[in-house]
Amino acid sequence: MKRFSKNLNGDDSSKHLDSDTHNALRDPDRNAGLSPMRVMGIFVACLIVLSVLFSVNVVLRDPPSDAVYGASKARVLEVEPNKSSEDQFSESVEVPKDKLLGGLLTAGFDKGSCVSRYQSASYRKEMPHKPSSYLLSRLRSYESLHKRCGPNTESYNKAVEQLKSGHHPSSLDCNYVVWISFSGLGNRILTLASAFLYALVTNRVLLVDPGVDMVDLFCEPFPEVSWFLSMDFPLKNQFDSLGQKSPHCYGEMMRKSNLTNTDELVLPSFVYLHLSHDYNYQDKLFFCNQDQSFLEKIPWLVVRTDNYFVPSLFLIPSFEQELNNLFPRKETVFHFLGRYLFHPTNVVWGLITRYYQAYLAKADERIGIQIRVFDTGTGPFQHVFDQILSCVLKENLLPETSGQDFIASPSGRPKSKAVLMTSLSSGYFEKLRDMYWEHPTVTGEVIGIYQPSHEEYQQTEKQTHNRKAWTEMYLLSLTDVLVTSSWSTFGYVAQSLGGLTPWILYKPENRTAPDPACKRAMSMEPCFHAPPFYDCKAKTGVDTGALVPHVKHCEDMSWGLKLVDRSDEL
Ligand code: GDP
Repeated sequence: MKRFSKNLNGDDSSKHLDSDTHNALRDPDRNAGLSPMRVMGIFVACLIVLSVLFSVNVVLRDPPSDAVYGASKARVLEVEPNKSSEDQFSESVEVPKDKLLGGLLTAGFDKGSCVSRYQSASYRKEMPHKPSSYLLSRLRSYESLHKRCGPNTESYNKAVEQLKSGHHPSSLDCNYVVWISFSGLGNRILTLASAFLYALVTNRVLLVDPGVDMVDLFCEPFPEVSWFLSMDFPLKNQFDSLGQKSPHCYGEMMRKSNLTNTDELVLPSFVYLHLSHDYNYQDKLFFCNQDQSFLEKIPWLVVRTDNYFVPSLFLIPSFEQELNNLFPRKETVFHFLGRYLFHPTNVVWGLITRYYQAYLAKADERIGIQIRVFDTGTGPFQHVFDQILSCVLKENLLPETSGQDFIASPSGRPKSKAVLMTSLSSGYFEKLRDMYWEHPTVTGEVIGIYQPSHEEYQQTEKQTHNRKAWTEMYLLSLTDVLVTSSWSTFGYVAQSLGGLTPWILYKPENRTAPDPACKRAMSMEPCFHAPPFYDCKAKTGVDTGALVPHVKHCEDMSWGLKLVDRSDEL
């Protein structure tokens, strides 16, 4: 009970109040002679004592193993559960500085239908970079195009009729990129952003195959007209059969005709673009200027990809100027497109905000650790845990633990760090949590370790599984410092959305923790895992990571490409 002898300010006023009140209540004779003012004073004193005892109890009760102390400096919103679902997320503590993200988002959406669009800014630090005015104007003109040509508009219905007829139309009003839902969620988010950027620079309208869960995960990003394909879209039932060998596949068309000149190809009503990791030499011609001149004439392009192909768009000469105007700072491409396109639906936003408020909001610092193990076998693996520990300690992201029994915090209130771990396995989380529970930190800091789920294995088609995956990517993006795993698109989404340059854990070889364990990334951009290495003009192989200063090989995959900003260009 000693702990109750001091109030929160460290003085002993609670003790005085305590004895005064106690005496007054114990001694009825003393009470009998009391004036009404004194009785009132005692009553107020009782209230104060109760309130102080309550506060002290809340702060000093035994913490759970992974608790976080600390004053809230959070960018937090309150959720009011008794309101209707449309307005259940009500803003309180801090009004977001810039809800529309520097003009990236357009106003005029129904707020209740997608709460995250308006609330997300409150959970983040101010955007580290501002979008260019050219990007903003191109987004606004894209929205107008989408409104005119999107699903169920007159132009769309006309274009669909032409598609059904199988003939190439004589005049083109609206042109489309149709994105097929394919691969893991991180991959899908990156490929959708890539397809959108391609649509933006080629004046096409992006249409999205809803797949099994896209509608459940993401709000509509464009005003008034949906980005989802209509149910009666004529090619919908053919998506599964569209592959590298199908006659509409661009690579196959090029291979069969054995042409060097696209001018001699007959114009089809649609073309299928196979841009997934197993694509061949002919499929990769997509990244050549001359082939883009041909594709420009095709009203419907249907694309299947599991790659963030943006870096190679920057190497197509006819796109170069436009892309430079849109993104004077190259490493912001996914950061801005991601924040523009991907707004969690209300059900996912509930998962995100409840978790954030319960476990992360009150910490002085939030650290994300994303663990993705591509080894066979179930894990957890000791070498992976050793690697995580080596990285966070060497880079001073988390403090060392001590062999002593007890270390008091040098200041009155210990600094708190909340660590958000994500992994399919719970093993790494449990080890780290136990380590910081069983030993004090040398700095006296309090470390809380949290992991929202451990799904054990990837379950791409399952709705609740993908909700959790999206929630976790988003929560990682709300941290202050991020550690990610090599090769993982899950991590790329988190880092770029969050505007965070992560420490990347090197991929372990031969079940051994690499040394060094991790490296700070050059930029927050995702890596393109399967880029072409072809000089379209010279028709020879070339190292596409050495052509321009802003397209470099990735830190985590030597043959991959990523966008970076040269320090002398900033
Ligand atoms: P990548 O394979 O790491 O590039 O990321 P993807 O997101 O494309 O595919 C991995 C999938 O496995 C995710 O979409 C999830 O379904 C699942 N997954 C992998 N790691 C995690 C994790 O830490 N948490 C959750 N909830 N799911 C994960």
